[in-house]
Amino acid sequence: MATATRVPQASTWDCGLAAAASVLGAFAPRAAATLASLTASWPHAPFVWTVDLALILAEALRDAARVEYCSRVVDAVNPALSALPYYAASFDACSARLPATFAAARRAGVLVSERRALLDEVRARVERGALVIALVNSAQLRCIHAGCLHWRAADAARDGSAPPVYTGHFVTVTAFCDASVALLDPARGACAAGCAVGLADFEAARACDGTDDDLILIEPAH
Ligand SMILES: [Zn+2]
Repeated sequence: MATATRVPQASTWDCGLAAAASVLGAFAPRAAATLASLTASWPHAPFVWTVDLALILAEALRDAARVEYCSRVVDAVNPALSALPYYAASFDACSARLPATFAAARRAGVLVSERRALLDEVRARVERGALVIALVNSAQLRCIHAGCLHWRAADAARDGSAPPVYTGHFVTVTAFCDASVALLDPARGACAAGCAVGLADFEAARACDGTDDDLILIEPAH
């Protein structure tokens, strides 16, 4: 089974590339690209979309893994994202290039699925050895372990009445427990117990407006 170790992000925008480097390290440790090499060769900084990561993974892993990209919106940028402040800078810059990226991803072997991957399926596939990169609103994540403040910075910044502001972030799902999911976060190391998020919080964070329910499932080919 592929075991992922956390790759810390090096700047504010490269959490997705860090998550990809973590997955590459798990599936192809000898050939793994480092975050520094992914960042240096990334032509669209500071913008990284989920389908970009699927393409990077499929091109790097080739026959070593199967890569499936699930999203409610495929082959183009969801026009509704233009209304979110988070996407203000990237929307125009990226909406023109994304259709070609989807085509390249399909050519590289990515299975592009226009659907929300349901939690039971994600759990079953992780239990069979898959790693999963999920796009979440990190402002909605809470570690279940007592005393752990991971992901709670947003709590301190608001009075509790306003909904969390959308902050798109890539995390890697490594395991499921009965009522929680273990995550690697490029932005921060885990607490001693290993940071985990309740299933309802995880579902809410990935279903938030802005994510399109984006998810990449990476499974060993054999
Ligand atoms: Zn924790």
